[in-house]
Amino acid sequence: MSLIYERSIPGRRGHAIPDCDVQSGVDFPRQFRRAVAPALPEVSELDVVRHFSNLSRRNFSVDTNFYPLGSCTMKYNTKIAEKIAQLDGFVHIHPLLPQLLGGGMLAQGAMEVLYRAEKFLCEITGMRSFTMQPLAGAHGELTGVMLIAAYHKRKGEKRKYILVPDSSHGTNPASAAIAGYEVLVIPSGSAGCMDLATLKKHLTPDVAAVMMTCPNTLGLFNSQIGEICRAAHAVDALMYYDGANLNAIMGKARPGDIGFDVMHVNLHKTFATPHGGGGPGAGPVGVTEKLADFLPIPRVAKRSDGSFALHYQEPLSIGFVAPFYGNFNVILKSFVYMVLLGKSGLQQVSEYAVLNANYCMELLKQWYDMAFDRRCMHEFVVSAEKQKAAGVSALDIAKYLIDQGIHPPTVYFPLIVKEALMIEPTETESPEVIDRFVAVMGEIAELVKSDPQKLRDAPVTMPVKRLDEAKAARDLKLRWQPAGEKQN
Ligand SMILES: *Cc1c(COP(=O)(O)O)cnc(C)c1O
Repeated sequence: MSLIYERSIPGRRGHAIPDCDVQSGVDFPRQFRRAVAPALPEVSELDVVRHFSNLSRRNFSVDTNFYPLGSCTMKYNTKIAEKIAQLDGFVHIHPLLPQLLGGGMLAQGAMEVLYRAEKFLCEITGMRSFTMQPLAGAHGELTGVMLIAAYHKRKGEKRKYILVPDSSHGTNPASAAIAGYEVLVIPSGSAGCMDLATLKKHLTPDVAAVMMTCPNTLGLFNSQIGEICRAAHAVDALMYYDGANLNAIMGKARPGDIGFDVMHVNLHKTFATPHGGGGPGAGPVGVTEKLADFLPIPRVAKRSDGSFALHYQEPLSIGFVAPFYGNFNVILKSFVYMVLLGKSGLQQVSEYAVLNANYCMELLKQWYDMAFDRRCMHEFVVSAEKQKAAGVSALDIAKYLIDQGIHPPTVYFPLIVKEALMIEPTETESPEVIDRFVAVMGEIAELVKSDPQKLRDAPVTMPVKRLDEAKAARDLKLRWQPAGEKQN
C-alpha cells in the first residue's frame, strides 16, 4: 500500500489514494486500500544521508574498536571474504536456479562451496557429516536436539531429560525445552566444571542427552570430558557439543574424537563472519555415524562425474529446518576463511586466542579477582565483587570502558559468577591493544578508590546517558521523533 502512495505523489501526506496505481495500472480491491496516506516523515535525501552516516559513526564494531565481548568471539572479519562474497556469480545466484542445467554453470559452484565447507568442518571436528542449514548457533542446538529425539524415537524410546551444567549458555536449556525435553541443571564443582560424580547421580536411562560447552563459558577446559562422554554413553544418552568455544581448541582436539555425538559450529564466531549488529550467522550441525541418517534434507552430494546434486530422498530425515540451504553468504565467507588460513593457520588461531586470553588475565590479576584462578582457554571471567563492595558494579566498569573507546565485555554471565565480566580478546588483537585495555582496567581500579562517582556516571561521551534497558523493553516507544522536538 505504501508503495502506491510513494509512487503516486511523493512528498505529500494526507492526500486521497487514487483508484489504481497510475504507473503499474494494477487495480487493487478497494477494501485493501488505505483511505488516507500514512503520516510518514518527509525528509530530503541529504537528511537521510546525514542521519544514516551519523548513525553508522556511532557504531562500535570490530573494525573500529577493541571488542572483548566474551563468548561472542568478535574477531576481525577478513575483507577478502567480503570481496569474494561480492563476486557476480555469488551475488546474482538464486536458490531456485536449476541444479544441473546451464552446462552446470548456474548453481554448481555454490553447491561445491557447501560440499567442501562441510568436508572441512568434518575434518576440523571429527564428525561424519554436517548439515549447513541452521541459521545460528541456537538454531543448530534445536536441530541437534531434534536429531537426538529422532535417534531415541527410532529405538522406540521416549526419553525425558536433557542435562546441562549451570554455566551453560541460556540457549542450551531453551533449545532442549523447545524440543520437548525437561531440563535438569547440574551444578558446577569447585573447579568451575561439571564433575563426573555429580553428573553420574543424574544419569538415568531417562536422560536423552547431556549438552556441554568445552571449554565452558568460564573459559575452563573440563579434564574429565572423556569420562563424562563414556558415562553418558553407558546409559545411551548422547553427548551434545556446543561449539561456540571451538575457537579455543580448533586444530588441537576434535569433539568427535573426545566422544561427542552431535554438535553445532557458530561459523560467525570461530570462522570470522560479521555478526552481532553486523550480519547474520550460521550454525551448521555435525553428527557421528549414529545420527547421520536423521540429518535435515536436502543433502549436497557429489556424483560420480564430479558434479554436485541435492538429495531429498532420505527416509529418516527430520526434514527441513530452514528454507533452502542455510545462510549461504555466511557459509561462503567462512569457507574463504578456512581456505585462507589452512590447517596450520587454524591451529595458530586457537594458540593465539588462548595466549592472548591468558596474557590479559595474568595482567588483570593485580587489581581484579578471577572467578576461577586457573589457566584459562580463550576467555576468562573476572568477578568484580571486590569493586562492588566499594560501590562500583560490573555494569559501571562496562559503561566506563565505552567512554574509553572499548566495547564492554559480556557482563553478568555466566550466571553463577557474581558481578561477572567475561573477557575474550580473540587471536586477532595485538599485544599493544591488550596492553591498552589492561591500562584502562588499571585506571578503573584506581578510580574505584579515588572517584567512584565518575564510574557510576559513565558513559559521558555518548549521546544518551545510561539507558533504563528494562523500561526501554517494557515501555517501547516507536513514535518518530522529529529533530528538535524534546525527547521524553
Ligand atoms: C553464542 C553462543 C550460543 C548461541 O549461538 P548464536 O549463534 O548466538 O545463536 C550458544 N552457546 C554459547 C556458549 C554461545 O557463546
